[in-house]
Amino acid sequence: MYKNIKLKRTIYATEEHQMFQEVVQEYIKKHVLPHREKWEEQGYCDRAAWLEAGKLGLLNLTSAPEYGGGGLDFSFSALMIEEASRMGLVAPGFSMHSDIVAVYIETYGTEDLKQRYLPKMATGECIGSLGMSEPSTGSDVQAIKSNAVDAGDHWVLNGSKTFITIGYTSDFTIVACKTRPGTPQEGISLLVVDADTEGFSKGKPFKKIGLKESDTCELFFEDVKVPKENLIGEEGKGFIYMMKELPRERMTIALQSIGAMEGAIEDTIEYTQERTAFKQPIAGFQNTQFKLAELATQLQIQQVFVDRCVELLNEHQLTPETASMAKYATTEMEGKVTDECLQLFGGYGFIWEYPIARRYANARVTRIYGGTNEIMKVMIARKLFGKYTAQIKEMRRKRRMAKV
Ligand SMILES: Cc1cc2nc3c(=O)[nH]c(=O)nc-3n(C[C@H](O)[C@H](O)[C@H](O)COP(=O)(O)OP(=O)(O)OC[C@H]3O[C@@H](n4cnc5c(N)ncnc54)[C@H](O)[C@@H]3O)c2cc1C
Repeated sequence: MYKNIKLKRTIYATEEHQMFQEVVQEYIKKHVLPHREKWEEQGYCDRAAWLEAGKLGLLNLTSAPEYGGGGLDFSFSALMIEEASRMGLVAPGFSMHSDIVAVYIETYGTEDLKQRYLPKMATGECIGSLGMSEPSTGSDVQAIKSNAVDAGDHWVLNGSKTFITIGYTSDFTIVACKTRPGTPQEGISLLVVDADTEGFSKGKPFKKIGLKESDTCELFFEDVKVPKENLIGEEGKGFIYMMKELPRERMTIALQSIGAMEGAIEDTIEYTQERTAFKQPIAGFQNTQFKLAELATQLQIQQVFVDRCVELLNEHQLTPETASMAKYATTEMEGKVTDECLQLFGGYGFIWEYPIARRYANARVTRIYGGTNEIMKVMIARKLFGKYTAQIKEMRRKRRMAKV
């Protein structure tokens, strides 16, 4: 129904996009949905789903074909994220693997790293995760404590990470750590750490209020020897790389929210036409119609903005603050849409087997991960008040120096 009034999406306009969308839908119906309850119980997805996705060419979509990737532009990743989310899914976590982890390796890694990891990531034989957040710090990435000491031909890594998406199922993690501990610069670097390396251990998947089938866990590093060849890019440049890649990560979340809102509205239009009260369908009440009209309007506006952001990302023109706006606006709206839609389901909305309950629970985290929405506002405001915030920072720095 909502489809009837949706503007044509120019970013997904080609025949190739349509065919790809059908493959994604078939894959989800056949290889994901039938297993979802089992995955929710165990807290992680089975490897079989990854291998099937690999066979269908659904992993590493934007990686170069010489590394086994699809050689496609980001609009295909966007379509896959949105479609999966519209169908009520976030797991298996392909977006983290394909659109974030693989991109770090391909963009900044050596040829050796690309050859070792990307082809197996494309087939689903090797799953990658990204570890930035730590028990003592998430928003303030520069305050991480994990550190790696230079020991000649290898680094010795110590520390821990938390909240790591697909950390439990992954075969390796890109770990953000300080490689000059004890010096004033400290320098954040990114190391590829294989899960079977001695001293690397994992916690059990967390029991979460949403995203139950996608694992999130803690990682521990105790004197882990990481070969020097596993450094991504240059030593000490990890923070710069992370800042450069954050807009893409934020877009994956914005797209997830767009898909989830579309799915929630579709589900609610359907449900309210079937359910009756006072001898008429719930959809017959003006309140229902107005609510859905409001939500569909808001979604349409956001979709147009997000489509433009996808185009900008493809053109390498998407700025961090615009990506922050997309993430902030869509995730706030997702919270509102899933809440309002759940209300129209009445008591059934509170029951897990109804998709709207899952959508409501899953929506909550999008305002938190990938940088909280408060941090999104910090990024946007910094741009609005550029010179002014720089002056304040300088004043604070001087004050600190005076105290020393
Ligand atoms: C399901 C899930 C999956 C995740 N996946 C990953 C992953 O794969 N890899 C990874 O590295 N991390 C991951 N995270 C971690 C996530 O990115 C962090 O939780 C998030 O960045 C917030 O950090 P924090 O939890 O430490 O909160 P804190 O930084 O402790 O923040 C607490 C509160 O303070 C606010 N706050 C902090 N600083 C400011 C400020 N300057 N101005 C105003 N308010 C502020 C925050 O907005 C928040 O409301 C995941 C988290 C979850 C829940």
